[in-house]
Amino acid sequence: MNALHRVVIIGAGFGGLAAAKSLAHSAVEVTLVDQRNYHTFQPLLYEVATGGLDPADVAYPVRAIVGRAPNIRFRLGSVTGVDWQERTICFAGTNVKHDATSEGCADDIPFDSLIVASGVVVNFFNVPGADTFALPLYTVDDARYLRDHILLRIEEADGESAHFLDGTLNFIVVGGGPTGVEVSGAIVELLDKSMERDGFRFERSMARVVMIDSLEHVLNPFKRSAQRYAEKTLRGRSVEVMLGRMVSKISPTEVELEDGMIIPTRTVIWAGGVTARGTIASELGSPSIPSGRLLVDSNLSVTGYEGVYAVGDAAVIPTALGSNQVCPQLAQVAIQSGRHAASQIIAHIGGGTLKPFRYRDKGIMATIGRRAAIAQLRGGLVLQGTLGWAAWFGLHLVYLVGFRNRVTVFVNWSWRYLNWTSGPRIIVGDHDGLDSSVANDSLATAGQQLT
Ligand SMILES: Cc1cc2nc3c(=O)[nH]c(=O)nc-3n(C[C@H](O)[C@H](O)[C@H](O)COP(=O)(O)OP(=O)(O)OC[C@H]3O[C@@H](n4cnc5c(N)ncnc54)[C@H](O)[C@@H]3O)c2cc1C
Repeated sequence: MNALHRVVIIGAGFGGLAAAKSLAHSAVEVTLVDQRNYHTFQPLLYEVATGGLDPADVAYPVRAIVGRAPNIRFRLGSVTGVDWQERTICFAGTNVKHDATSEGCADDIPFDSLIVASGVVVNFFNVPGADTFALPLYTVDDARYLRDHILLRIEEADGESAHFLDGTLNFIVVGGGPTGVEVSGAIVELLDKSMERDGFRFERSMARVVMIDSLEHVLNPFKRSAQRYAEKTLRGRSVEVMLGRMVSKISPTEVELEDGMIIPTRTVIWAGGVTARGTIASELGSPSIPSGRLLVDSNLSVTGYEGVYAVGDAAVIPTALGSNQVCPQLAQVAIQSGRHAASQIIAHIGGGTLKPFRYRDKGIMATIGRRAAIAQLRGGLVLQGTLGWAAWFGLHLVYLVGFRNRVTVFVNWSWRYLNWTSGPRIIVGDHDGLDSSVANDSLATAGQQLT
């Protein structure tokens, strides 16, 4: 009896999961590896960060998704390298977070075909202080930490007039792409609702949400009319939109712009971009672009590596055969390319030929808040306002992973829509004395200025 073809998939994000699900119940043996035991629905992380949803609403256990497929084995742990000679991945297990310098494998997992779906990480673009003091929004952990941090700042400011000067209530969002727009709009709603319902005693007008982007417009990939709508709506909802401005330095107590402007703050949310540098994809030794994303042929094979495919954010994927355009880093691209890589493997085993990938654009979306969103459909038609928001609402429910999560998010959103309350505004982490060293230093300084 012939041994089954062995497929290893690195990453259980949108791309890796789509590939695994396509290979379920086929005549291949699949090992799906991820450093987390859950899949993250990144499009709704901002809701967790702003107290709208619980972390468990946007995460789903990988085993609950693929556990019933007899040919799929899930391994929790990091992949730290690939031995191209032996065609094995180095599986470091759960003790080692991915780190290029780590040595030794808990297990060498052999493969006949490999799918690299390891995604990207936050890019701080070497802005001084950003990697230490800015708060990224890329993982569930980031979102939960950010929620605690924002809620703590609001609590600290309550009744302490000195905090109006030290920037405790200044929330700075770096980046005017979809994540920056969504998080800015959601913080404003959190502040408004908290003020109205939670008995805070400070002046709402003392809290600022400032969104900064180096471009002259928000939502770069959207049509001009959609960008104008988003900017106008944000401003109308009291977000200070600073465009054509660069952040040059971040410290624990302020953010500095290239033109010399200094804004006191304790909260800088980084929505400024991503990179594959530092991820396993950039260390495989295969051709990549400067940001570490792998170059693939139109059939998704990593250039020069037989039986190796890269999908989703980790890859630079042409939109179609012969096209010089590349796919955007979106969930739909990851899902479609993951499925395509799986079909290539099945075709290859069956002696068939590899087929070029063709991206089917399903449009892009961003929400600014209650009844204000933009859905730019394929072909360019833009739905905005309540209509755009309804489209955004429905599509996110459809694509959310896991039936339980769809139900809880639907109930949560409907309840909030009807009742105007916000979601789980609870501080759960242990934040070393509520960041007291920074708080006390800056409070003392601000207090001196007030007196
Ligand atoms: C805040 C935010 C909001 C977004 N909003 C939208 C949106 O509204 N619409 C949209 O279409 N897209 C959105 N995106 C982009 C979208 O989420 C990505 O394009 C998509 O997640 C890419 O899928 P992927 O499978 O390539 O990577 P990911 O989903 O990032 O998955 C990569 C997986 O690989 C695992 N992994 C990485 N390295 C290793 C290793 N060495 N060993 C083991 N496991 C590893 C990670 O743990 C992760 O589970 C958003 C992204 C973010 C961060």
